[in-house]
Formats: sequence, structure tokens, C-alpha cells
Amino acid sequence: MTSARAIFCDFDGTITQTETFVDMLRTFAPAEADRIIPQIHDLKRSLHDGVTTMLQAIPSDRYEAAIAHADPVQIRPGFAELVEAARAHDVPFVVVSGGLYDMVVRKLGPLAERVTAVYAVHIDTSGSTLQVRSPFSDGQELVAKVEVMREHPARERVAIGDSTTDLQMSMVAERVFARRRLCDYLDERGKAYTRWQDFHDIHHHLAALWGWPCPSEAP
Ligand SMILES: [Mg+2]
Repeated sequence: MTSARAIFCDFDGTITQTETFVDMLRTFAPAEADRIIPQIHDLKRSLHDGVTTMLQAIPSDRYEAAIAHADPVQIRPGFAELVEAARAHDVPFVVVSGGLYDMVVRKLGPLAERVTAVYAVHIDTSGSTLQVRSPFSDGQELVAKVEVMREHPARERVAIGDSTTDLQMSMVAERVFARRRLCDYLDERGKAYTRWQDFHDIHHHLAALWGWPCPSEAP
């Protein structure tokens, strides 16, 4: 069924104040991260290949420590309120991350049950190093966010993001909220977007657009 609206939201550096996944890779696979991350940012190496290589360098017995790496990181203000507003108005709110599923769900805590779905990279720890299991990979990205969007069809798709992994979903979305590096990529491609700092900004914007109660006036 096609919804009227759906929201697709990145996790790292978007829901979280800082990049938990990249920071984890730099901590647990430092040599590979130093070499590969700049190549990804320069779009010279695919996310699929680069992230897989970095993850496979991490020993499986360090996985628990790796997913706990995001524990101290703050969630950006207004996130819980926006999730609840979307629920109240039957707008699917989908978290889609190129990071680790276990890390995302752990960080979201009870909010993982309040969003419509969480898509991210699943990890198999049965071998000596991490093995990637990603049902929505497409050869370019480990989690092809555009493929995830097809699972939740909507006439007005909102993309919320901050970086490289959000570029493709932003290009196909009807409405984009961008911060940081994503703004530069979208400027280069002439794609319109709204700049944002926290989820209160997005909440106010969508409330005005969609006729929701103004967040400050909501009960
Ligand atoms: Mg991000």
C-alpha cells in the first residue's frame, strides 16, 4: 500500500550528535579506516567495498565492545518528539543506516520500538572476524537506502541525513533535510533541500507543511 507520506532517517551523525560508526571503525580497525575512509569521502571507493573491508578487519571477539562504542553519544534534540508526532499522524518513520543494526537498536533503546522499522547492516560473528550480512546491499552501498525506500512506498518521501550514505535517497526523495557534507553534495547536483540543526527544526517545518499542531502547542 502506498502511504501519503513517509520519513526516512539516517542514524549516524543524524540521529546521533556525532558519527558513531566511523568512530567505531577508527577505533577497532584503525589502519584500514585511515586508508579507506578518505577514499569513500572522495567518492573514489564504494561504501560497499570500503565498509566491508573495514568490518572484516575487526575480530569477532571485539564485537560487543564495538557495538557499545555508541553508548556515550547523545541523540540529537527533538528526535523522540518527531518520532511520536509521526506515529500520531500515521506517517511511517523508517531509520535507515549504513552502520550496524545491533549498534543502532542498542543506541535507540525504547525508541527502536517506536519507529516503524530499522534497516542497517547485520553482522555474523561465527568466524574469527566480522562478516557482513546485508539484505539491502546493491554493490555500491551495504545498505542501499533507495532499495529500503521501495519497501515503504509513499507519494511524499522525506529524507533526513548528513553525509555520503544519504546522497542517493536524497536525490529520489520529494523533500530533503540535510546537514553537513550532504549539503555540499546536493548543492553540486542542484537538488533542493532544507538545512537543519536538530529534529525540532524538522518537526516545526513538517508541522507547518502538513497541518500538524505546532510542536510548542502540542499537548
Ligand atoms: Mg550519517
